[in-house]
Amino acid sequence: MQNTVTPTHCPYCALQCGMNLTPAPDGTVEVSERADFPVNRGALCGKGRTAPAVLSSGVRLTSPLVRSEGGSLVPASWEEALGRIAEGLGGTRARFGADAVGVFGGGGLTNEKAYSLGKFARVVLGTSQIDYNGRFCMSSAAAAGGRAFGLDRGLPFPLEDIPRTGCVILVGSNPAETMPPSLRYFTELRENGGTLIVVDPRRTKTAEQADLHLAPRPGTDLALALGLLHLVVAEGRTDEAYIQERTTGWEETRAAAMAHWPEYVERITGVSVPQLREAVRMFCAPEAAMVLTARGPEQQAKGTDTVGAWINLCLATGRAGRPLSGYGCLTGQGNGQGGREHGQKADQLPGYRKLTDPAARAHVAGVWGVDPDSLPGPGRSAYELLDALGTDIRALLLMGSNPVVSAPRAAHVEERIRSLDFLAVCDVVLSETAALADVVLPVTQWAEETGTTTNLEGRVLLRRRAISPPDGVRSDLEVMHELAARLGGGRGLEKKFPTDPEEVFEELRRASAGGPADYSGISYRRLAEENGVFWPCPAPGTGTGTGARVGAVETGTGAGEGTGTPRGETGAGASHGAGVHPGTPRLFLDRFATEDGRARFVPVSHRAIAEEPDEEYPVLLTTGRVVAQYQSGAQTRRVAELNAAAPGPFVELHPRLAERLGVAEGDPVAVVSRRGRAVAPGRITTAIRPDTVFMPFHWAGEGRANTLTNPALDPTSRMPEFKACAVRVEAVRP
Ligand code: SF4
Repeated sequence: MQNTVTPTHCPYCALQCGMNLTPAPDGTVEVSERADFPVNRGALCGKGRTAPAVLSSGVRLTSPLVRSEGGSLVPASWEEALGRIAEGLGGTRARFGADAVGVFGGGGLTNEKAYSLGKFARVVLGTSQIDYNGRFCMSSAAAAGGRAFGLDRGLPFPLEDIPRTGCVILVGSNPAETMPPSLRYFTELRENGGTLIVVDPRRTKTAEQADLHLAPRPGTDLALALGLLHLVVAEGRTDEAYIQERTTGWEETRAAAMAHWPEYVERITGVSVPQLREAVRMFCAPEAAMVLTARGPEQQAKGTDTVGAWINLCLATGRAGRPLSGYGCLTGQGNGQGGREHGQKADQLPGYRKLTDPAARAHVAGVWGVDPDSLPGPGRSAYELLDALGTDIRALLLMGSNPVVSAPRAAHVEERIRSLDFLAVCDVVLSETAALADVVLPVTQWAEETGTTTNLEGRVLLRRRAISPPDGVRSDLEVMHELAARLGGGRGLEKKFPTDPEEVFEELRRASAGGPADYSGISYRRLAEENGVFWPCPAPGTGTGTGARVGAVETGTGAGEGTGTPRGETGAGASHGAGVHPGTPRLFLDRFATEDGRARFVPVSHRAIAEEPDEEYPVLLTTGRVVAQYQSGAQTRRVAELNAAAPGPFVELHPRLAERLGVAEGDPVAVVSRRGRAVAPGRITTAIRPDTVFMPFHWAGEGRANTLTNPALDPTSRMPEFKACAVRVEAVRP
């Protein structure tokens, strides 16, 4: 393995850029271009280029840590650490019942780990209380997509379709900072004569490149979409034949949109009527167009309806389920897509099956070799689970997440975590959450282990092990195997938890067979040979529940000819034998995944954000990311180059607000909400609305943005309202 080049993928965001890793003689790992992977064609952002820095032992955990009697974390043997976890989780279960033990996962875990964690919670611990941080990422888009199309896959088409469409509306997404290599798709769109509309309260680097930038007040994107739909109807731009043939529920949706006059929408959003008209003209002029959403519209207490409003716009104009058109979500976390498909979500079983579906329970229980009746029902969503820590939930096993920084109302969440009877954390570094644990287990990470992820396109990918992990570090799969042995009561449950990722994937294939996210036709061999495979990809004879229902066009076999789809997207030079499913780059082209094959309009109306500004808290706060940091920053803050580029939090504010406060560039600014106070240097810019301030959320300490955010939840997706809350902004005087 040493000194060889290993093709793999970046550990960070959902683009899952391809990269080559080469171990150097001095123990470091070199990252080099991997041009054969079509998504990024060799391009990487600074996070990807510097990712190996986190592998070095200087920042890595290389020994288990246990809480000493004196209260500090001290090194311990694996035997002692695992024993303490078994005692902590098992003892809690014995005293308070299985649901007093919680499990919290992450959207960065590989498919194999996410699958095993869901199984571990339900089979070994017997608890219903499992969810993961992906709930904070794209759950509103998943809920809205499922509601409208009968299936959620981030993008129902590959990224390569973007440059070939006519217009893209990018809503609440800033790929120039979150996934820079993807920006080329939008640049090529414009070079090809297409247009880009960006909807964002801030004039971001992405918005600067748009043909039209709409800057609505935070939390009003739902009204904005309704205003556009109103104009589409009023100007006779609906696609009536498509609506008749491929959708249901139009009349109610049409009536709801017509109640949102453009002038009313202008008052709500701050986007002028001429701008609304221009957006409609640009979106409707070409034959094909797309709407892509990200966290802006999704991280709201009405996120599902907000995304639903944008989907309605696509449906009314005949833009979904047609070549080079459609609605898609740009998922954020590395395995945000796969992480939500295989069972670590509170309400789901592997294959994207519902935990409440008796047939799904029977199928998965059969694969797991357990009684379906022994499987618990749905548990609490992520924030509700965190909020119950120390009360109903007394012990927690946490893998691949750092909620002390990334959860809303973070000071409260931190307090709940501190009140636990027992906390065990598996991580690669001592994150802010790991620092509160009773036991911390050091685990392998990306370059040290093989496993699969599923990128934002639904393309399942093989990450390959390039180097050996340091002594003292084990994989999460080994952790679950060992804990199953200790918590299984002598039932040999550890045999159900293989430590070889490929063995886990083989089981995952069987568990997902026939489900919406059917991986049964995918193997490690195919992933290696074809550079990724799009799901659904049923094995011969197992796909009756998926491929047929989603109306897949199987481009790899040429079945997509005549639809404008290219051949062979699933991999360079891939060829498939008779009966081998080629994977499904494009969904819904002939029918949607609903019972009747039609997409569902769902009528929605404007609602105010959960916490409107008032006299005491007169300004809006919105949060987001910067290019050099990733998520809670647990890893990227430990990389010198990234830290130098983005050393700390800041408060972005408009010159008018700064003048009113008497704040100059770089002065400390306090942002106060009903949940707490954060302080960071001010950054004065006209790129933000005068009524809004922005903070990135990557940092802990006094500049922690999530101290301020509102945990009001979307009633369907249970997504917290990260993107808009009322705050007071103050100058900090020495
Ligand atoms: Fe690519 Fe995202 Fe990694 Fe950057 S962080 S290299 S955009 S996968």
